[in-house]
Amino acid sequence: MEIYNPFKLGLLLTLPLPFIAQVNWKSPESIGAKNTNVSSASGRAVVVTANPLASDAALSSLEQGGSAMDAVISAQAVLSVVEPQSSGLGGGSFLLYWDQKKKSLSALDGRESASAQIKENVWITSDGKKVPWLKATESLSAIGVPGTAALLWEGHRQFGRLPWEDNFKRSIQLAQEGFIPSPRLLKSITLAKKIGINHSPEFKSLYLPNGSLPPKNIPFRNKKLASTLSLLAKRGIHTFYHGEVANTLLTDLTLQQNKNKAVQTITSEDLANYKVQKRNPVCKKYRPWQICSFPPPSGGGVAVLQALGTYELLSKKNWFSKNITHWHLLAESLRFADADRSHWIGDPIDLPVPLKGLLENSYIKKRAKAIRASNTTLRPLPGKPKGSEFLDLASQPRTIDGGTTHLVVVDLDGNVASYTSSIETVFGSRHLSGGMVLNNQLTDFSFLSDVSGKPIANRIKPNKRPMSSMSPVIVFRHGRPVLAMGSPGGWLIPHYITNALIGALDLKLSPKEVVNQKLLSVRPNYTVLEKGGNWSNPKNNIHNKLKSLGHSIKYNRFSSGLAIIKWHKGSWHGAADPRREGKAASIK
Ligand code: GLU
Repeated sequence: MEIYNPFKLGLLLTLPLPFIAQVNWKSPESIGAKNTNVSSASGRAVVVTANPLASDAALSSLEQGGSAMDAVISAQAVLSVVEPQSSGLGGGSFLLYWDQKKKSLSALDGRESASAQIKENVWITSDGKKVPWLKATESLSAIGVPGTAALLWEGHRQFGRLPWEDNFKRSIQLAQEGFIPSPRLLKSITLAKKIGINHSPEFKSLYLPNGSLPPKNIPFRNKKLASTLSLLAKRGIHTFYHGEVANTLLTDLTLQQNKNKAVQTITSEDLANYKVQKRNPVCKKYRPWQICSFPPPSGGGVAVLQALGTYELLSKKNWFSKNITHWHLLAESLRFADADRSHWIGDPIDLPVPLKGLLENSYIKKRAKAIRASNTTLRPLPGKPKGSEFLDLASQPRTIDGGTTHLVVVDLDGNVASYTSSIETVFGSRHLSGGMVLNNQLTDFSFLSDVSGKPIANRIKPNKRPMSSMSPVIVFRHGRPVLAMGSPGGWLIPHYITNALIGALDLKLSPKEVVNQKLLSVRPNYTVLEKGGNWSNPKNNIHNKLKSLGHSIKYNRFSSGLAIIKWHKGSWHGAADPRREGKAASIK
């Protein structure tokens, strides 16, 4: 493969070594296995999901003449059974969908929404302190109105080709007859146990029967989920928000609430009023490509576009003296973008988001100017984009979380889906209803509403959707899609995506090489390099270069779950992140 390297010092010098992942509650979804094989596939149609059973179901939808949307529905339904720690009908999702015939890009927002009854101080204790994050995740108040089922329904209405019901066959079969639980699923159950499950007898009886993990070699069944999926398949969306599934959910929540009447949660009105929002994708030119991603309530898309924008300007400056590496520019670009997203982004239903201003070339230029070649800028301040003149906000403190999955599909007609779906942390709130794991997405809101009287954009309000970092991406060249990708990873998602886009576009890496790259991430005051990378190579010591530019460096394992497809020489190529258990599959 021809390598185009825009830098004097190349990324390739620090390409990957085998990855060994960790498990701890800060990156809850990591798998402890030494999984160094990359699953990849090429052809006219490709799917990549986080689990082989889901990829097979998606592929089989395509083989039956289904569209990319049908494949998304089949995959999501199966993931709710086999990867319940990451996503499912009890959660929310974002879909970016390219309709090849209409040549149009849609963004469907199925993010969880807060109850109309929610109190702004739900995460503040009576003595004025913040509720500890882990405690909050298990509260009934953390559960937002699930949006995934509504998104799948709306997506199917617009883009589906197979009968709705057909897309659920495989998931129902797997839930009923069982499947061999994956190592990652078992690890995630252990992790859920560590972070707390005593509040959920349903979780214990399903996932820890008799107090121990489900046996490794015996099919694991979830009969209640099979019934929920069957109801949704047969009766359509009405059952989920108004009918039997809704009633079971409300009864289960009331039962739990009886233990503590003071705890507020979602109501029948909240379910009945839930709507998928059609959003306008955010797009920006990066070199010759047009990169599109998801708008607020996600801050992820804006962050990716801003980071790439400043990075492109900086990388043209020819600063590549001995001590300046493009990793410095990447770190600074990410840090500056992060400062903006924790300040300006929230669901625009509440406070206006200066979206246009944040992505304008003149603003990106200003931000790039503030980045110093000779030294890192710790804790950069947010900028002042156009449209923010009357907004006097405070920034939100950040957390890192992980209960999410990403999948990409391109079908035989060239329709492309890039879909990220979440229940927030590992197994969400660990509350279950109808076999579904219920999310804890409302802990993605800022726990504080304001700082010294200045409101936080991501404060809690009735019916509002919490800010997300999920960043499904589709890249275009000459008006046609050439790449789609996304990842789980909470706050770090845009970091993973920006690394991956630079690899795929600038360095022309194949999807397989992209998912194998070692990654860089940032916090406000330090830089994180992925463990196991060749960062101290004597020929090009990135570690030392970054140090000499003032970076304080930490090494960490990352639990990205990149799923990527890329057009190259007349066919599509896909790969799944070896840090998780994904599979790429194709129609030749
Ligand atoms: N709740 C997070 C978000 O919406 C995603 C968590 C994850 O990626 O694991 O940004």
